[in-house]
Amino acid sequence: MYLSYETLQKIRNLVVDLDGVVYLLNTPIPENVEFLYRARLRGFRIAFLTNNTFLSREGYVAKLKNMGVEARVEEIFSSAFVTAGYLQRERPGARVYAIGERGLKEELRRAGLQVLSRFSPKGVDFVVVGLDRCLTFQKMKIALDFLLKGAQLVGTNPDPTYPTENGVIPGAGAILASLERASGCNAWVIGKPSPNILLFVLDALGFRPEETAVIGDRIDTDVLLGKNCGVSTILVLTGVTRREEVLASSIKPDIVVETLQELRGVLDL
Ligand SMILES: [Mg+2]
Repeated sequence: MYLSYETLQKIRNLVVDLDGVVYLLNTPIPENVEFLYRARLRGFRIAFLTNNTFLSREGYVAKLKNMGVEARVEEIFSSAFVTAGYLQRERPGARVYAIGERGLKEELRRAGLQVLSRFSPKGVDFVVVGLDRCLTFQKMKIALDFLLKGAQLVGTNPDPTYPTENGVIPGAGAILASLERASGCNAWVIGKPSPNILLFVLDALGFRPEETAVIGDRIDTDVLLGKNCGVSTILVLTGVTRREEVLASSIKPDIVVETLQELRGVLDL
């Protein structure tokens, strides 16, 4: 453990990753769920943060409820929601072409952006890329045409792969990389480990960095994200990362725990 007692005492806000922390695919991780319940009772403020773009915020509230976790819509931050927020700030009502699934398009529309479904000679302001399990060559061609007409390329997240029951599938980052390659554009990336996504959360909820810890199961996304933003980092080994990988990595989490139950002593819960 690399944190002083004083630093730990200050932590009042937890930014919690979903996959590998609250659940594995569709199965809750009971020790971690129980810890979150306890942390809330003790007055900790919680935000849930995921790079995944399949569901809308309401969709995550419902999924969490099924896992035994109560959450409010305002506490849910997906890379789709945060991307939509940034684009709306940058250019209100912008025209957007999106490669992605329903959750992404819903968030973009809800933020007041115009989501086009086919090519238009008028062009678009942004081409937004999330994970799309119905990706076609046609969609890639439309996206490329818009990019060559001057649209800005935006990535919801840079994840190379995404885990499923049947092994990994190509992630949003893989689609993004092929469009970068084809167009010669560099994408503006919002999701973890880019600081953009966490800065948005801190700002939206009024969390101070020194009072906040990120909890996640991946060194290269969650822990790196925390380091990039100057907040404390807690790695939990209930997801993809094994203890040997922590030792081998140059990115060192402040705290490593087998399950979040081990945090009870650390955070005085
Ligand atoms: Mg995770």
